[in-house]
Amino acid sequence: MPFTGEVLVQLPAAGEENVVEAAAEARIAQRTWAARPVAERAAVLMRWHDAVLRRADELLDVIQAETGKARAHAFEEVADVANVCRYYARVAGRALAPQRRSGAFPVITKTIEQHHPLGLVGLISPWNYPLTLGAGDAVPALVAGNAVLHKPDTHTALTTLLARDLAIEAGLPPAVWQVVVGDGAAVGSAVVDTVDHVVFTGSTATGRLVGERAGRRLIRAELELGGKNAMIVRADAKIGAAVAGAVRGAFNSTGQLCLSVERIYLHESIADEFERRLVSAVREFRLGAGFDYRADVGSLAGPAQLAKVRGHVEDAVAQGARVLAGGRARPDIGPYFYEPTVLTGVPPHATCYAEETFGPVVSLYRVSGDEEAVAAVNDSRYGLNASVWSRDRSRAVGLAGRLHTGMVNINEAYASAWGSVDARMGGVKDSGPGRRHGIDGLLDTTWSQTVATQRLWPIGEHRTLRGRRFQAGMTTALRMLKRVGRT
Ligand code: NAD
Repeated sequence: MPFTGEVLVQLPAAGEENVVEAAAEARIAQRTWAARPVAERAAVLMRWHDAVLRRADELLDVIQAETGKARAHAFEEVADVANVCRYYARVAGRALAPQRRSGAFPVITKTIEQHHPLGLVGLISPWNYPLTLGAGDAVPALVAGNAVLHKPDTHTALTTLLARDLAIEAGLPPAVWQVVVGDGAAVGSAVVDTVDHVVFTGSTATGRLVGERAGRRLIRAELELGGKNAMIVRADAKIGAAVAGAVRGAFNSTGQLCLSVERIYLHESIADEFERRLVSAVREFRLGAGFDYRADVGSLAGPAQLAKVRGHVEDAVAQGARVLAGGRARPDIGPYFYEPTVLTGVPPHATCYAEETFGPVVSLYRVSGDEEAVAAVNDSRYGLNASVWSRDRSRAVGLAGRLHTGMVNINEAYASAWGSVDARMGGVKDSGPGRRHGIDGLLDTTWSQTVATQRLWPIGEHRTLRGRRFQAGMTTALRMLKRVGRT
């Protein structure tokens, strides 16, 4: 338990043989689940949505106990899962219905595309957003008719188990969502070796291993990996709103959010004011270890995270950076607390200049205009999230198009793009090629099948139309298709 450093609970560790057993049980249950009408599966999601909101306080207690984050940040996870349940419950029927496609030839070819569940979807999730990245990613796979074999991070297994209990109360057959807890490499690898599709969220290093392993089995892996997310504050930005956005973006979940803002590029004309206002906002933060809404920021998740954050700040300072706010561990509050920290003057050779800190540390840089800001944002091996702050929204949208990041939020740090669950979410470069959300997030857990029915006339040669006559007939037909504007 990050608030105190005590062991919260000890769970039996699964071995590879348990993964195989869980997979076999899930595959049997999946057949019955997939045979149920989509509307029934969607109804389970709607009841699950209600249960998550009704039992939010229990979920919040468990998320906080396992992650140490502030209650308000834990609530983001509850709200997110409800949002995702409602969305997929509403769209699943239409998205999974057979779709009419243009046939090879009008009238004589009738073509449909239909979707079948892949079968068993492996879900490997991290500790930082255990509800959102565990239950939230199970939702599309389940409503599509799959079973899920889920390996949550060992430190946050209880959140997964409680979310699963709520889903079962909402009508989900227990065997279609299996949870296996154990050593990351051993159990995670066993999951990849037994499923039909992998949804992985975690570090870039582990993502590469998972992607390689899945590739050898010729199964797809959605890889949602790290980030070094940037915020651009243009000269015409509303400074108060941008400061509030920076605070949310950099310090929510104590900075342990894949979409967290770790670099801020300030137009030089507003940099002094922004810096002054950000520092005074950060100094007013209340850090706290409580199961209520009193604290603005919670703890880091554990000793490894604390050591990393401390190391990044000490290294930056040793290389010449200046600490404008924070920069200290707070063992007086709890063993892994670290003050929200604002740095300036971080040189390119400091570790936190380019590497993901995954903690409450943000660095400020000054730029002369949009060109310099775009170049700086894109000068990263990561490309997950970015934000642009400006009163000129169309200018900001234009700027967004030049950023090499999978998501761009305008006048918001991360929640607008993340919460727009009808749109795809994911990264580029070392942030991984994975995508979640949207109709495709559902269809990615299915295999598509094209069924084309030929009527009246075959497409190939036949008795009365062969050789040169067939060539002439096809040529006329193809020219006609072009003339009538056929796709
Ligand atoms: P991690 O890679 O250490 O672990 C992620 C999961 O993989 C855990 O469940 C772990 O037990 C498991 N695992 C470990 N080794 C494995 C192996 N060899 N094979 C299969 N599974 C294995 O990541 P973490 O430290 O838990 O999470 C933090 C990272 O996740 C950060 O880099 C963060 O940016 C990233 N993240 C990305 C997103 C996104 O959507 N892009 C969201 C949240 C977190």
